[in-house]
Amino acid sequence: MSKISKIEIYPTAIAMKDVFTIGTGFVGDPDSAGDHIFVKITTDDGYIGWGEQRALPSWSYETTESITSTIRFHITPLLLGKNPLNQNEIRSLINHALKPAVSNGHPFAKAAVEIALYDLCGQILNVPIHTLFGGKRHNQIPLSYALSIDTPEIMALKAKALSPCTCFKVKVAGIPTEDEERILAIHEAAPQAKLWIDANQSYTPSNALDLLKRVEDIREIYCLEQPVSSQDWFGMKRVRESAPIAIAIDEGCFTYYDLGKIARLECADAVVLKICKSSGLLDCFKSVNVAEANAIELLGSGLTEAGVGFIASVHLFSTIDLVLPAELNAPVFLDTMAIEGVDIVDHVVTVPDGPGLGITVNEDYIREHPLTTNS
Ligand SMILES: [Mg+2]
Repeated sequence: MSKISKIEIYPTAIAMKDVFTIGTGFVGDPDSAGDHIFVKITTDDGYIGWGEQRALPSWSYETTESITSTIRFHITPLLLGKNPLNQNEIRSLINHALKPAVSNGHPFAKAAVEIALYDLCGQILNVPIHTLFGGKRHNQIPLSYALSIDTPEIMALKAKALSPCTCFKVKVAGIPTEDEERILAIHEAAPQAKLWIDANQSYTPSNALDLLKRVEDIREIYCLEQPVSSQDWFGMKRVRESAPIAIAIDEGCFTYYDLGKIARLECADAVVLKICKSSGLLDCFKSVNVAEANAIELLGSGLTEAGVGFIASVHLFSTIDLVLPAELNAPVFLDTMAIEGVDIVDHVVTVPDGPGLGITVNEDYIREHPLTTNS
């Protein structure tokens, strides 16, 4: 029986190829490396599992320091000596020590560790992670890419340059007249592409409805995501009641408990799934079940994680039916994904079938690009 014998945490700097700005502000650019926290878990019989998350405190509160210290000082002591196959026991211990209160608490730290545990379980059982969730239903996952907030001309040029991408996540900034110009320019540049508008909380309910009125003739728009503040479920409901298209919830829904309440309030038509905010794959999968039971459609996304977080999402999304291509941005925004063995052709990723994550982590890169933290 395998026992966890060592847990290493690597806060790692990965540069962005391009500037990335969303409705809540700056995400990154080529001059400021992003903060990625890699976790390596080793067992006494030589198995190795990798996990990762990206710290983006302007999107959710966890910092590189808090993720690192949470894993180092609060989760690591609970895991040492445990059999990684006993995931329910481990999850219960972690959630007893780091209590989910109101919502889930330290979800990014928990998610980084849980991905590594699933990688380990897959290695030990000699199956891919998707098999641990009932097996893949899709061999390939098409990708959507985000278009960072910019002038309409530049956003249109980027959409053109990303051909044959079939779906764009269009980031908007909260001003209906300006966002209308952005959406029109992108639609003109890529008329066949589906558009997934994401406001990242930058709108008031009234202005969101104004924007939707302005672009109502563009049939390729599937949804407006998170128009209002994450806490404002009633604002979401107000928008949804008058909206001609689907309203999706992201920052306002971290857990399957959140989603249960959102379903009761009838304030979203679709939910954005992200492993990071769900504390890991299993609770993200539980959100899928709650969504399906409440006629809420599924959108797949991430937070520009590097290759480990990216491919963990690919495994989970291969087991479910998403309504749009998955928005996993690492291939276009990151200088490196810090993995080898991922197969992406024409913005379509092949689901790996090797044990665990089914890719090779570029450990040299991770060791050679440390972020300095005090945690
Ligand atoms: Mg979003």
